[in-house]
Amino acid sequence: MSMDTDILIAGAGPTGLVLAIDLARRGIPHRVVERSERGFPGSRGTGIQPRTLELFDDLGVIDAIMAGSGPVPTVQTWEGAERSEKWNLTESADASPAIPYPAARMLPQWRTVEILYARLEELGGRVDFSTELTGFTQDPDGVTGTLRHADGTEETVRAKWLVAADGGRSEVRQALGIPFTGEQVDSRPVLIADVLLEGPDRARIDGGHWHMWQKEESGFVALRPLEQVETVQVIAGFADDGKDIDLDTEATPEALGRLVAERTRLDLTISEVRWASAYRARMAMAERFRSGRVFLAGDAAHVHSPAGGQGLNTSVQDAYNLGWKLEAVLRRGAPDGLIDSYDTERTRIAADVLGLSTHIHQADVGNGGGRWRRGKETHQLTLGYREGPLTRELRRDVPEDALRAGDRAPDAPCQDASGAPVRLFDVFRGPHFTLLDLTGQAGDEPSAPELPDWVRTFRPQDPEGHAKAAYGSGLFLVRPDGYVGLATDDVRDVEAYVGLVAGAA
Ligand SMILES: Cc1cc2nc3c(=O)[nH]c(=O)nc-3n(C[C@H](O)[C@H](O)[C@H](O)COP(=O)(O)OP(=O)(O)OC[C@H]3O[C@@H](n4cnc5c(N)ncnc54)[C@H](O)[C@@H]3O)c2cc1C
Repeated sequence: MSMDTDILIAGAGPTGLVLAIDLARRGIPHRVVERSERGFPGSRGTGIQPRTLELFDDLGVIDAIMAGSGPVPTVQTWEGAERSEKWNLTESADASPAIPYPAARMLPQWRTVEILYARLEELGGRVDFSTELTGFTQDPDGVTGTLRHADGTEETVRAKWLVAADGGRSEVRQALGIPFTGEQVDSRPVLIADVLLEGPDRARIDGGHWHMWQKEESGFVALRPLEQVETVQVIAGFADDGKDIDLDTEATPEALGRLVAERTRLDLTISEVRWASAYRARMAMAERFRSGRVFLAGDAAHVHSPAGGQGLNTSVQDAYNLGWKLEAVLRRGAPDGLIDSYDTERTRIAADVLGLSTHIHQADVGNGGGRWRRGKETHQLTLGYREGPLTRELRRDVPEDALRAGDRAPDAPCQDASGAPVRLFDVFRGPHFTLLDLTGQAGDEPSAPELPDWVRTFRPQDPEGHAKAAYGSGLFLVRPDGYVGLATDDVRDVEAYVGLVAGAA
């Protein structure tokens, strides 16, 4: 049976879109199908971590993301109708040439999705909305998916690989029978909504603050004017009485307005509810992220407590890890082991991040009405693949606290061969590998061997020593997803590593 496309992606949330953008810029045929009529309408995952900003920089959407987003607002706590304390929820990274985006940004998820979709279209890609993947079978050569369109018609599509980016309730994961194990992190239900807030006290709910009433007996409420739009995000907690929140009755403008007025004691009303959802915080992770020719990515593979803003961020990093590996297998005959490393690398990261978000959630609960804290560990800048199957640290006597193979490849301002200023992130930007040569003196002949065109060699001039300070000495092969795959002093190791990720020795 002939192939209709190389990659079928189910779901056009942040995960599916990031993968589609990465594949589009690589010129890999793919098809994205999305069950809903248009993109996701809610604010939901608003916290974009520094590591995700780096990914967005690489994919060419950073200007739109920075322009549309705002800093993490200061928390303003209230006691009834009076302001109480102000505190910072998050910690920024120390300003350094190695970290161009030291602080998280806030942007409603529907805007992030819109920006990603616009980028996909700019690259010539698109999403088939109102198109649901209703079933699939797989064989050694590919996957056959059944699609149902809005008018009820069905279509069969044949692809080499299927990526399930179909969210926490992933039907693909269920069909594969992959166990999704975890626990409820908090049994108390939470309602989240985007609303138009009005009334005489509306002006007191100013932007730049996350307004919180933490000590209400009936449950907390938080109001946050969203970045550059007219809507305000309402988050309201409820006692656990065993019942689920009924959105039809509790997320109406009247009911939600009453709740906000009662808990804030401010003269506030709600004229419109644009989007509402309810959840109980839980964490769960798929036992494996790959089954034959099918991959699970994003929420389909792991769901988090929203505390600490890790879900969307971990999800898009799954896609970023997978895109270049799919190209290597499709175009360069890379071995199955390369594509299998997606599972090994990302299950480890997901397990760590799930531990972190659960810990933050429990600390918030334990802290009751006190100050919540999100430290630098939420930035995802220190996550990496040191123990991963694609990591080769071959230098001797590397100091304990130095960068090692497997770590995130840091940025550094330096100069190119002509002396023009350039940042390493400018050099890394794009779908290629970069061989960063920090072995010798400026002006020496490059020590790199003949390399394929998907590996670019860069020997920076480093008058201020920022590159050396960040990396140390040696040859560093930087993966397209911004991690150091190989660190060595011996140029012959580079050829061997190229063989590892491309299949040819
Ligand atoms: C209250 C709340 C707050 C949050 N805050 C944060 C935060 O601050 N930071 C953060 O990082 N994360 C946060 N998250 C998590 C974040 O929203 C998710 O991790 C993120 O949406 C995952 O993206 P995804 O693309 O994997 O899945 P989704 O966004 O769920 O997208 C899946 C898509 O697949 C489509 N689909 C499903 N089945 C099919 C099918 N069979 N065929 C075709 N299409 C299908 C769906 O319609 C959907 O559009 C929060 C979550 C909640 C609930």
